[in-house]
Amino acid sequence: MTKKKAVFLDKDGTLITDVPYNADPAFMALSSHCVAGLHHLQEKGYLLVVVSNQAGVARGYFSETALIAVEQRLKEMLAGTGIILNGFYYCPHHPDGMVKSLTINCDCRKPAPGLLFKAAEELDIDLSTSWMIGDILNDIEAGNRAGCRSILIDNGNETEWYLNEIRNPVLKARTINEAADHILKTDVK
Ligand SMILES: [Mg+2]
Ligand SMILES: [Zn+2]
Repeated sequence: MTKKKAVFLDKDGTLITDVPYNADPAFMALSSHCVAGLHHLQEKGYLLVVVSNQAGVARGYFSETALIAVEQRLKEMLAGTGIILNGFYYCPHHPDGMVKSLTINCDCRKPAPGLLFKAAEELDIDLSTSWMIGDILNDIEAGNRAGCRSILIDNGNETEWYLNEIRNPVLKARTINEAADHILKTDVK
């Protein structure tokens, strides 16, 4: 059986508009110019998988159970446009948290690639044929370290631009639609 290919998506600032530390479904909105691209990717057999840092849990801003409603709302919004979200993975940790059990140096907080490894194992994904899309270079690094190709949504959310070889995206795109075009042009012969 051949393994599946996936497009990993950062959530905040990439798939949905960025509202810092938000866990209220009422304030969630899909990014503009993402629906057509996600549709095409799904049509061509890519799993769509969210990988998200949720340090707000470790910091005590909201509980891990609040993220159930966030995941549910995200799936609903996408389903409303005919898109199935195949996976939702998050890191609740932070090295400077308030919740003791989550205040650790974990291997899943991006730029570490742990969330992608976990998804790959659970969903039978081939990372070398997969892609990561995110709005900051920590997303790019996580994707690259996992062995994916990575695209930066260059929407102004990255402010530090600490670049090195492992943090280089293969492309800077303005929107998910543009990123999807590139993925399909590259992969689908
Ligand atoms: Mg982001
Ligand atoms: Zn973590």
